[in-house]
Amino acid sequence: MPSAHESELPTLGVNADRLAASLHESCQYGSDHRYGKLSTETGMARLSLDDSDKAVRDWFLQKAKSLRCTTSIDEMGNLFAVRRGKNADAPPIMMGSHLDTQPTGGRYDGILGVLAGLEVLQVLEENKIETEGSVGVVNWTNEEGARFPKMAVSSGVWAGAVPIADAWNLEEVTPHEGTAKTMLQELERIGYRGEAPASYTSNPFAAHFELHIEQGPILEDEGRKIGVVQGVQAFKWFNITVRGRDSHAGTTPLYARKDAVLVAAKMIVAANAVAKAHSGLATTGIFTAAPGTVNTMAHTATFTLDLRHTSDAVLATMLAECRAAFQAVAAETEKGCDVDWTLLVDSPAVVFHQDCIDAVQASAEAVCARLPGAETKTLWKPMISGAGHDSCYTNLRCPTSMIFTPTREGISHNPTEYCSAEDCALGASVLLGAVLGYDKLRADRGDFENTSECA
Ligand SMILES: [Zn+2]
Repeated sequence: MPSAHESELPTLGVNADRLAASLHESCQYGSDHRYGKLSTETGMARLSLDDSDKAVRDWFLQKAKSLRCTTSIDEMGNLFAVRRGKNADAPPIMMGSHLDTQPTGGRYDGILGVLAGLEVLQVLEENKIETEGSVGVVNWTNEEGARFPKMAVSSGVWAGAVPIADAWNLEEVTPHEGTAKTMLQELERIGYRGEAPASYTSNPFAAHFELHIEQGPILEDEGRKIGVVQGVQAFKWFNITVRGRDSHAGTTPLYARKDAVLVAAKMIVAANAVAKAHSGLATTGIFTAAPGTVNTMAHTATFTLDLRHTSDAVLATMLAECRAAFQAVAAETEKGCDVDWTLLVDSPAVVFHQDCIDAVQASAEAVCARLPGAETKTLWKPMISGAGHDSCYTNLRCPTSMIFTPTREGISHNPTEYCSAEDCALGASVLLGAVLGYDKLRADRGDFENTSECA
């Protein structure tokens, strides 16, 4: 068996047709929302731990076994498939993402990362490459948080950041039938509550690499192929409640009003201006008003506010400016309106590990250099992820980074979500090179002289 770094690495490449075929084969489980005539022109509705998720899990384990991987399932239903390396006692390098989707999801979000991982293992297998350490793939349970309302909950349990009881007790958002099922009930129902503890201490990784579609328009707009992801932007979510006074729309002059909806609307505009001034983001996705009649102004308006920035410090400034602006709007515009803030989520900025970023960048440079147009343009770019991923949790416990591929028109969480077979394969090639580069780094720096680097 040739070892990974004696072999001619540049000649190793993933098989674009095979990757596309297996990706779409896996999408037979849970395909939905047809939008075109081709068999692949559907979206997905594969909610975590439903029957289609069980079916794709069975498919994944079968596929991994055919690649001579050792498979295991932990008590959160996370699936692991590991291909032995020369130093099989050391923690493996894992390639991970998720096979669950949004109820109106696409064929690439999460799915590409898992299927590309399997393709990398197949390339290693067919080229008889013996890596220095073991290399594997992980499918994380309920990353979307669409059915059980906590995103990346199972990598969170693995990382020790989410208590397993909290995860197991999560109830489905929309019950299929009767009363809402918990995650634990559904894990048991489909036979995927494994025996192994979901923990980085008993199941440590040497590193975690995640290939994912960008889910935004930047790579496509700039005509680039690969994002070398440096980290994930910080975000904070709030529920804002504005209380005014309900009164008659025809008899109450403007000067005498405490119009909660008008105040809330001005706050949303103010938050947008704050975000713009700091090159950050502010979004209101939910807005309600009560009592809700045409000819009465509302006494209460509630809305959500999602604030994001790549820097924790700038995000704190944005928040302070929003608080001041909201107070001013409530006190000055409509005298007597009150505003209350409730923090829903606080997620600090994530900075990925430099060794993993370096491995991805070196691989991206090599892969992109072979593409048409590479003489005149750099086809990869450093990026910050706008969305959270399982990699945010693995980053707490082992060196981690991510790779992005272009996403047609930046559309994701939508049935028409699309990344071309060529671009999927480029991403998988970068993943392959990053894993082999990191494997070589481990050997070169003597990682295999002791075996507990991650825990
Ligand atoms: Zn995803």
